[in-house]
Amino acid sequence: MNLHEYQGKEILSSFGVEIQRGIVAQTPEGAVAAANKLSEETGTEWYVVKAQVHAGGRGKGGGVKLAKSREEVARISGEIIGMNLITPQTSAEGKKVHQVLIAEDVYYPGASEPEEYYMSVLLNRATGRNMIMYSTEGGMDIETVAEKTPHLIFTEEIDPAVGLQPFQARKVAFNLGLSGQAFKQMTKFVTALYNAYDASDSSLFEINPVLKTSDDRVIAVDAKVTIDDNALYRHKDYASMRDLREENPVEVEAKEAGLNYVDLDGNVGCMVNGAGLAMATMDLIKQAGGEPANFLDVGGTADAERVETAFKLILKDPNVKAILVNIFGGIVRCDRVAQGIVDAYKNMGTINVPIIVRLQGTNADIAKELIDNSGLDVHSAIEFQEAADKVQAVLA
Ligand code: GDP
Ligand code: MN
Repeated sequence: MNLHEYQGKEILSSFGVEIQRGIVAQTPEGAVAAANKLSEETGTEWYVVKAQVHAGGRGKGGGVKLAKSREEVARISGEIIGMNLITPQTSAEGKKVHQVLIAEDVYYPGASEPEEYYMSVLLNRATGRNMIMYSTEGGMDIETVAEKTPHLIFTEEIDPAVGLQPFQARKVAFNLGLSGQAFKQMTKFVTALYNAYDASDSSLFEINPVLKTSDDRVIAVDAKVTIDDNALYRHKDYASMRDLREENPVEVEAKEAGLNYVDLDGNVGCMVNGAGLAMATMDLIKQAGGEPANFLDVGGTADAERVETAFKLILKDPNVKAILVNIFGGIVRCDRVAQGIVDAYKNMGTINVPIIVRLQGTNADIAKELIDNSGLDVHSAIEFQEAADKVQAVLA
């Protein structure tokens, strides 16, 4: 589950990470009220208006703007709320902005220049350990830093048996070139950040930039947080942070129906049981000259109702030109699945894309007969290659 910046910052703050403070608002009036309250709490008279959408690169897309008065807060919030924000990380249509974070300006002048760093905590899949990844090159996307100046990215792995050690936090601060008060603040920051990541069962905490202010505070200006879905049952209080408006509506519907569905860009819909077979089926489609429109694992109980739900989900995608059903009848019998397909087809009335069905396993022959005798625009296949050829034929 991905969080908004303001939600990520709430979690950070609750673990003692110093953050750029802010208040979220849905309207320009709400934004001014937020600015008033923020000024009372922090003394700031300059603000940043930050679009809250699940995508990075908002600054580049015009979704992060400095406001030097409350009038500007009202005007800029009015411009940003309701806009379709296009960033390097969104689709070409962009993402609709429903709310903004009114944050204190933390780039104020002082004894030294503000400095931006990059820091994230994530799992190193190669070693199975959490690691802190950090860089002196904050504020720009880390992919660019990795490409152009890889030697400026550091990593620090954490031994799960003992957790983050104080010397490791000091090493991070040292490698970032800090000294004095800023050094102390950074070790505190790193330690609290790691605690927040660990205790919230997250799979990613990315803070870009981490800012050293002109008076040597170290604070999180941005927060990109992904909580591990498999651990959400341990964090009932986070459930309300889910913002379904930010998620793919078909994927949300699929999840409610208990189906494993991932939307993709291609033209051939897939309905498969088992993740491994689903991956193989996607390869098969590519080989046949198509592109998979989705990943869909209907799971072990492919009955008529589930098959129908799956068809409906697949057909919501206007790019779908054909559907390939590839089901292995191990626990579930092929003839039952075939009956499910025929029933679903009849129930739905019109399906105006060809369907290729490959049923293999228990009672595959009976299943093929059922499909062939149904009189519907359904092509049956038993062999993998046969299915591929049929997909190719209907796409041609
Ligand atoms: P992102 O573009 O989605 O990564 O959003 P960020 O929260 O990282 O903000 C983008 C950029 O806005 C930052 O890299 C900063 O340069 C700038 N910014 C953020 N907060 C402030 C602030 O308080 N004052 C000023 N002047 N700039 C800010
Ligand atoms: Mn950022």
